[in-house]
Amino acid sequence: MKNSPFNLQEQQLTNEYLQYADEMLAVRKNLLGYPANENSGMSGFYNWYIQSGLADSLMNNAGDCYAPSHFDLSSHRYECKVIDYFADLLQFAEDYWGLIGTGGTDGNNHGVYFGKKILWERTGELPIVYTSAEAHYSNMRLADLQGLQVKRIPADTEGRMDVASFAKALAPNKPALVIYAIGTTFKGAMDDVAALEEIIRQKSVKNIYRHFDAALFGGYLPFTRCKDLVSQKLWHYDSLAISGHKFFGIDEPCCVFVCRKEVFDAQQNSNIPYLESSMPMISCSRSALTPLKMYWLLKTKGWYYYARLALVCIKNAEYLHKELLKLKWPAWRNNASNIVYFKRPAEEIMHKYSLAKDCDKRLGGNLAHIVVMPHVKQPLLERFLKDLAKEIVGQER
Ligand SMILES: *Cc1c(COP(=O)(O)O)cnc(C)c1O
Repeated sequence: MKNSPFNLQEQQLTNEYLQYADEMLAVRKNLLGYPANENSGMSGFYNWYIQSGLADSLMNNAGDCYAPSHFDLSSHRYECKVIDYFADLLQFAEDYWGLIGTGGTDGNNHGVYFGKKILWERTGELPIVYTSAEAHYSNMRLADLQGLQVKRIPADTEGRMDVASFAKALAPNKPALVIYAIGTTFKGAMDDVAALEEIIRQKSVKNIYRHFDAALFGGYLPFTRCKDLVSQKLWHYDSLAISGHKFFGIDEPCCVFVCRKEVFDAQQNSNIPYLESSMPMISCSRSALTPLKMYWLLKTKGWYYYARLALVCIKNAEYLHKELLKLKWPAWRNNASNIVYFKRPAEEIMHKYSLAKDCDKRLGGNLAHIVVMPHVKQPLLERFLKDLAKEIVGQER
């Protein structure tokens, strides 16, 4: 024990944790139902982290990473680099601002909050929030928390906000905060932004804020031929949120939030004296480790790596969809999506592959989905398909 890096208690707990880790890794082996990239690939980062001595100290990214700070024990400079990287990837056509937060929900929260504030500044009125019934539940929750009226627009069978219903619901004389679902959580549907924008134009809604909730799709789309679907230059959105733990597989929940600089500047007119004017973000303390991890991945893996990864996910999703149809199992996949949703199989399969559930009467009732993430390779899909084929044979007997 003399040379062991652990003391006695640590040694005991390490053994306990090793067992726990085995249990977790067994679950990871078959994980198909959630938008988590289980190939984190962060061990190189942790080697550096321990060697550097920083593993025994605390850093904190409180405050605006672009502003000079009084607290220098931060990774603000890398946070800026990550935001810059994403702003470029998202084709921002104007000045921008951003932060790295605690998850897609945190990113959406900033979108809703910043939108509410800038529209309030402009009109003295609170906006109405418009979001599709199949958008992530966090959007409803956040609008509720922020005391905003929400109009939840029905979605078509594919999962996109229904254009005619949006036209009916849109109040022409009220400020509007539209949350576009760029990849819904269950069906992987993208709202038809062009068609919805046309409605906004026809109704000449003057005061509007556009937030793109691109938690999963915002990670891989910019690396594909479909990159224009999240182009700021093209869609003029005010803000966008991407989860860092989804496509990129950062090993803890986190997000990238980017907005137009004008939106950020409008937050500064705070008349609450104890709020520092350069602190418009919702949480004070933020992780300094996350930006370092994010930058580590972006730099060490590189653009081509992610472009290939995105392509492989899409190809594998296409493969899964085709194979399900070959089995005559009702299945669907939306354009540019890595999610395949299908008739729900038996509980045994649901459990074995950690599949998520949903229900849509228009598609025959109970559904499940597979999110084809980077760790989901063909052999795993083949294993799943084999299990499903067995279930079908069992039913026919
Ligand atoms: C996952 C997801 C969220 C929530 O993100 P978290 O990172 O889990 O907080 C929000 N919107 C969409 C579309 C998602 O897929």
